Amino acid sequence: MIDLKNLTIKKARQALDAKEFSAVELAQAYLDEINSKNKELNVYLEVFDDVLEQAKSADERIAKGESSPLLGIPLAIKDNILICGKTFSSASIILQNYVASYDATVIVKLKKQGAIFLGRTNMDDSAMGGSTENSAYGVTKNPHDTSRVAGGSSGGSIVAVASDMALGALGSDTGGSVREPAAFCGIVGMKPTYGRVSRYGLMALGSSLDCIGPAAKNVEDTEIILNAISGSDILDSTTITDTTYPKVSMKKEITIGVPWDLVNAKGVDEKVKENFKYSMEKLQSLGCKVVDISIKNIDMALAVYYIIMPAEASTNLSRIDGMRYGYSADGKTFWDVYKNSRGKGFGKEVRRRILIGTYVLSAGYYDAYYGKAQKIRAMLKQEFAKAFEAVDFIATPTIPFVAWKIGEKTDPLSMYLADIFTITANIVGVPAISIPSGFSEVEGLPAQAGKKLPLGIQFMASHGAEEMLFEIGKKFESIKDNQE
Ligand code: GLN
Repeated sequence: MIDLKNLTIKKARQALDAKEFSAVELAQAYLDEINSKNKELNVYLEVFDDVLEQAKSADERIAKGESSPLLGIPLAIKDNILICGKTFSSASIILQNYVASYDATVIVKLKKQGAIFLGRTNMDDSAMGGSTENSAYGVTKNPHDTSRVAGGSSGGSIVAVASDMALGALGSDTGGSVREPAAFCGIVGMKPTYGRVSRYGLMALGSSLDCIGPAAKNVEDTEIILNAISGSDILDSTTITDTTYPKVSMKKEITIGVPWDLVNAKGVDEKVKENFKYSMEKLQSLGCKVVDISIKNIDMALAVYYIIMPAEASTNLSRIDGMRYGYSADGKTFWDVYKNSRGKGFGKEVRRRILIGTYVLSAGYYDAYYGKAQKIRAMLKQEFAKAFEAVDFIATPTIPFVAWKIGEKTDPLSMYLADIFTITANIVGVPAISIPSGFSEVEGLPAQAGKKLPLGIQFMASHGAEEMLFEIGKKFESIKDNQE
């Protein structure tokens, strides 16, 4: 029996190379785990039928003496990343039977390494949401408390890792969709620098914000996945190279800036604040310098995001019209087909964002909303650049509260507020990582008295400084009592 609970990518690599178990045995162990858990947690929309074949060819490569960090490593892939020949639905009705005709660049890279794709994972419809409650295929449950959400929109990918149904995963992060669920479920999730990972073959949402990001059990594994998928790509002109941003090195005394105004804002749970303060004290005891920083207009980031993101999404989604591919509804006229296909094919939240997006881009409102949001975005970029002259990292909690009960948040705004700490990194384009920072005991859980729900700490660094994030991340992980 392979001990999946304590297995990491690093350990699996060593075991595969040492022939302690084969890639087929490892893949089978994950398939068994999926078999016993997927029904309840609703993580995979599809488990691929060629998993063992993929594993067999990984074994053949290992037998030939080949080795790469992800050869034979079973991964979960979010349902908005194209894998040639596989269905790709973005957890939406409108793309329910769409079959990908090419591989996303990240998939090409992972195939080269010989990673195993276990299946495609559940998410919010078109990656809009923070709980997977917007999926057309049911909600993904939090493995720490199945009456609660897993977070989103990459909920399936995150729970796959958190409940030993994959060793690592890919999600997409436009406003926090890898980091937020990672924090809700107690694993590591990362949004790289904008452009670090090619978006080619990722369903476009907010093109100036979208990033494919890795998730894993620890920082080291997250780094392994990021290294495998990053790199400039001729098929995505926004990708960066190692020299796009000047190399930054850590200050003599590691300096962490905290925007306390934001952390102490109303609406941030007291237990979250306590946990975060405790984490900062621990980092200080490890020799880090913690300073108070104020970032002008950071409180406007959420509003800016919820203008820019719907604006870009409404434009991107206009290509899905019921005519060329995906779900097509009946109708007498062209317009009937168009209206019925989009009306029935897209979920409620997606339709809401398309309406908001088209509104803020429309003549007469463009300057008041979209134009203004872009100006604030430019100001925030400058503010961050200034802040990173003085500090190595900006730290905040990842989430303002623990995972909520399924169905509890009925108005969209209360759900948008969950993104308060994560969206700025997307607006500014800097890399950010969420690392488990302990648990919060939740009252009022009669059936699960004493149950604890995970919390996360987020570190942001300047453009291109992922390596520094891994360094501080590993340091933070070394604080053992974080996990109590
Ligand atoms: N919660 C955010 C939203 O609903 C994040 C989405 C994402 O990162 N894909 O827009």
